[in-house]
Amino acid sequence: MTTSAGRRGIVALMTTAPVAVSVTGLTKRYRSRTAVDNVSFTVPTGSVTGLIGPNGAGKTTVMAMMLGLITPSEGEGTVLGAPIRDRARYLPRTGALIESPAFHPAVSGRDNLRSLARLAGHSITGIDDMLGIVGLSDRGGDRFGSYSLGMKQRLGIAAALLGDPELVILDEPTNGLDPQGMQEIRDLIRIISGQGRTVIVSSHLLGELEQICDWLVVLDHGGLVHLGTPESLGGTADALVVEPCAATDLDALVVVAASAGLPIDRVAETIVITLDVQSDAHRIAADLNTRAHAAGIVLSELHHRRADLESRYLTMINAAAPTEKAVR
Ligand code: ATP
Repeated sequence: MTTSAGRRGIVALMTTAPVAVSVTGLTKRYRSRTAVDNVSFTVPTGSVTGLIGPNGAGKTTVMAMMLGLITPSEGEGTVLGAPIRDRARYLPRTGALIESPAFHPAVSGRDNLRSLARLAGHSITGIDDMLGIVGLSDRGGDRFGSYSLGMKQRLGIAAALLGDPELVILDEPTNGLDPQGMQEIRDLIRIISGQGRTVIVSSHLLGELEQICDWLVVLDHGGLVHLGTPESLGGTADALVVEPCAATDLDALVVVAASAGLPIDRVAETIVITLDVQSDAHRIAADLNTRAHAAGIVLSELHHRRADLESRYLTMINAAAPTEKAVR
């Protein structure tokens, strides 16, 4: 697990903030299968927290335990200050979209929301405003069955907002949506967060959520692999990419870089020097350029490559990162 310090002191800010959710040693076993394994994390109040992990990582199970829908095999926690096993104390202040809500296809979006509100004992006076927030003002009177997938998801989020919850939990709300639909959901999450709510949103793709999350909980195979800001996730794997003008100088360049004590990968016609978070890329690049020049090697390329968050995430969960294949 990494809990590295982020830039601009964000980590300190987030980790000292009041917490909406805190879990310790959360575990869920089904017979011989461990769906969630000894997971501990906090969710800062007011944050947009991404629960990220590949299929089967345990995201839905964690969310279901946070909502009191599944009883943990082990572990404990609090949601909005109440023990996780005491759901009556936090559920009235929590909204969720964890499975497709039971909307009636022949009934309008507006009337579906009204029915859900009445069932839950919430006021129906703000329903039209809510339809406006989720961008369905024009289509609120249309049958739910005529909605696109994105509209159905947005109506589901509206349902999660009934009762004006402090905490909103959304399980893979962008799943199956096209880029525009995903953007609409991201915009909606920003609006919900801007209203002062804590939002926990899951996805198997970090890239879908990295722009809107200020706190990440990364799961893989039921375990926690990273907890921190997006900046903390991105602080470990930048690289210098160096290429000699003449391909025949590559071996000599490797020797020069190795003599400077740098960690080197040969990748096609280049060498890649992995930088750790403390590395001064400019100093290392200047030093390497000087050494190469002294050895009679002319460089055609020397640049600082910033690995994107998605490739770091994929590396973290042992999937194939979409970067150069190293040939050592
Ligand atoms: P996805 O993105 O595919 O929805 P996820 O990260 O939400 O995945 P979970 O649905 O929480 O993952 O499942 C985690 C693991 O627990 C999986 O291996 C799943 O098969 C298993 N699992 C979940 N629910 C049950 C259950 N009721 N009985 C047995 N195994 C289960």
